[in-house]
Amino acid sequence: MNHDDGTGPTFTLTGSDLRIASSQLLDTLPDAIVVVGPDLNVTYLNLTARKVFGGGDENRAQAGISGLDLIHPEDRAHVLERLAQLLDQPGGHMTADFRVAHHDEPDGWKPVEANCTNLLNDPVIQGLVVSFRDRKLEHVMATSAQRLGRALERTSDLLLLHDRQGTLLFANAAARSFLGTVLTSAPNGGWPYSERTTEFMTSVILPSAKSNGSWDGEVTTADTSGVEHVLSLVVSVDSDGTCVITGRDVTAQRRYESDLTFRATHDALTGLPNRAALVEFLEKSVTDNASGANPRLAVLFVDLDRFKLINDSLGHHYGDQMLTSVAERFQAVIRQPDMLVRLGGDEFVVIVNDATGTAPMKEVGAEIAARLHSSLHEPIMLGGTPVFGSVSIGIAIQDGQLSGNDLLRRSDLAMFRAKTSGRSRTEWFVETMATEAERGFAVESQLHRALDANEIFVAYQPVIELPSTGVIGFEALVRWRRDGEVIEPALFLAIAQESELIMRIDSFVLNEACQQLMRWSAEFPHHQHLHIAVNLSARQLARGDLVDVVANALAQSGLAAERLVLEITEGNLMTDLRATIAALEGIRALGVQLAIDDFGTGYSSLSYLQRFGAHTVKIDRTFIEGTDVNEPDTRIVEAIIGLANTFGMTTVAEGVETLEQFERVKALGCGAAQGYLLGRPMPADEASSVLVKGIDLSGVLHGSAIH
Ligand code: C2E
Ligand code: CA
Ligand code: CA
Repeated sequence: MNHDDGTGPTFTLTGSDLRIASSQLLDTLPDAIVVVGPDLNVTYLNLTARKVFGGGDENRAQAGISGLDLIHPEDRAHVLERLAQLLDQPGGHMTADFRVAHHDEPDGWKPVEANCTNLLNDPVIQGLVVSFRDRKLEHVMATSAQRLGRALERTSDLLLLHDRQGTLLFANAAARSFLGTVLTSAPNGGWPYSERTTEFMTSVILPSAKSNGSWDGEVTTADTSGVEHVLSLVVSVDSDGTCVITGRDVTAQRRYESDLTFRATHDALTGLPNRAALVEFLEKSVTDNASGANPRLAVLFVDLDRFKLINDSLGHHYGDQMLTSVAERFQAVIRQPDMLVRLGGDEFVVIVNDATGTAPMKEVGAEIAARLHSSLHEPIMLGGTPVFGSVSIGIAIQDGQLSGNDLLRRSDLAMFRAKTSGRSRTEWFVETMATEAERGFAVESQLHRALDANEIFVAYQPVIELPSTGVIGFEALVRWRRDGEVIEPALFLAIAQESELIMRIDSFVLNEACQQLMRWSAEFPHHQHLHIAVNLSARQLARGDLVDVVANALAQSGLAAERLVLEITEGNLMTDLRATIAALEGIRALGVQLAIDDFGTGYSSLSYLQRFGAHTVKIDRTFIEGTDVNEPDTRIVEAIIGLANTFGMTTVAEGVETLEQFERVKALGCGAAQGYLLGRPMPADEASSVLVKGIDLSGVLHGSAIH
């Protein structure tokens, strides 16, 4: 074509014009076109071919190069063979697939379909015309299909293909190895699953998959060796009825999940259901019972007595063993469908769900409580030592519409009553327990007024030295005189302890007690060595200025620091360890003495408590009481005294009520004693007369408690 004059193409063409025009036309084609001579040397390349074979540079590939060089060495033989045939057929035509050199391909070769026409006889062309068509996409598709097939075969998921009759068309390796024998033994055309799964497959899965396009869910079926597995299946059915099943073995996962659920709802030590399980079960029991005319539901709150001591004296290992043994014994006396739960620590709960019973619930509850008590009558062997356990039980019965939580709280209150009224017993919840707890609010506001109105005062209980029976000091105990009646701390301290009130009370008692001791010193010059013991609460220990408060009380009263003893229960020591240690160091630096109160009721060992630098250990009243009937308690007291002495601490026996107890603690080598037998807490003026007269036990009869 001639564009020179700008008038458009010229249609008068000479032979050479035709060549040029054809050549320009060929250069516009996206396909590569090559002409080779009978010797297979290239005589012509269009633009695309020059670029492709010239490595992108159209000047590099020119006529004259060998056509064979453009063919992948591995493909040459078969291409040559085809070309040889074509050379013998002037005007003939053939196609061949092979790889040609291609600069765009990473490996330098590209799969193509080559179309060859023999135009050797054509006077203009005189060669074989070869045009190349890109076969890359088809090639990729073919290899992907192959790869896909391989992937499906090798995947760990089970893959099965059935026709509409259920005949198996394909099962991948995973499916074959899982269902191996089942596959081969499956009846003709049948589904290769266990009878149950096949039944499920044809009655549920397939109809659902047909109507919804697919079904997914889990089935349990046996593997080749007959072991049951959980398979998670996706089943889809095509419009032609072909059914594709993919399955995954989720047995381990399900087992793991159910294991996790078990762990979340069970106590690791005893294997019993835990608090989480309790809450659920309790609410369910409440709902179940709500439908019946009268609910038959009881909750027993069971707390091991003195477990802390076992843990403490024998170590956690035996403590755990004790809990496990107790759990086993309880379990043995609990009947289905009642439920035994370990709430934590040494607390257990029994839920009695007696829907079908006829006996009154009170009798049912009492009977179970009795069984629990007697299950511990035989000692538990811990490392060869027989240990006797006992429990305090509180029972609440469903009446009306109490929630599970209410029931639990009620049984807890009743259990608390069982503890405080002497342990190893059962108490029933009564309404007053709840109101007592609720009364707290009123008490708090009254207490504030009581402090302002001077209704709070201090009572003094003498502390007697052993074996001399001389008065060596007093413990200051707070009292509240309300409407002419004296109220003991048990009724108001717990409430005061929940607010800042306790600090006001404790500071008041501290100051008052220091001043009282100074007054006695002035009045009784021969009592210069009396000490005064004052109780500290956890809150006071935690406050930053305790040392200042104490120093101030000493300064205000003029009392010598070593005559003041501050009593701390071990429970209080542990509340905020860091703050406590700092506070106690400050107090010791002042020269004030420390006593560990109610020893034996908490968690810790004496050797641990020794670190706090206490001078005195006060042995809890329950042990002194226990020495009457309990040989082990006597041994515990003896051990505490021995241990305290080796640590350089003195001992005070608390709650000595009888002459027997008095003589026993004296014989055991206790340093001092305190208790109703020797003097009840009394107002300061009465305490003055004790200082005058001393303690006289000569008139006390054996076996009598003074109250
Ligand atoms: P605690 O420090 O163990 O005080 C001894 C308790 O045992 C006193 O009870 C006392 O009256 C009682 N007691 C003494 N001898 C006997 C006995 O032979 N038999 C019996 N059954 N009991 C005896 P109280 O005065 O009712 O005080 C109870 C608790 O309240 C005290 O136990 C102490 O922890 C606390 N408390 C008392 N006054 C204060 C105070 O001013 N501040 C603080 N923070 N707590 C105080
Ligand atoms: Ca005390
Ligand atoms: Ca005490």
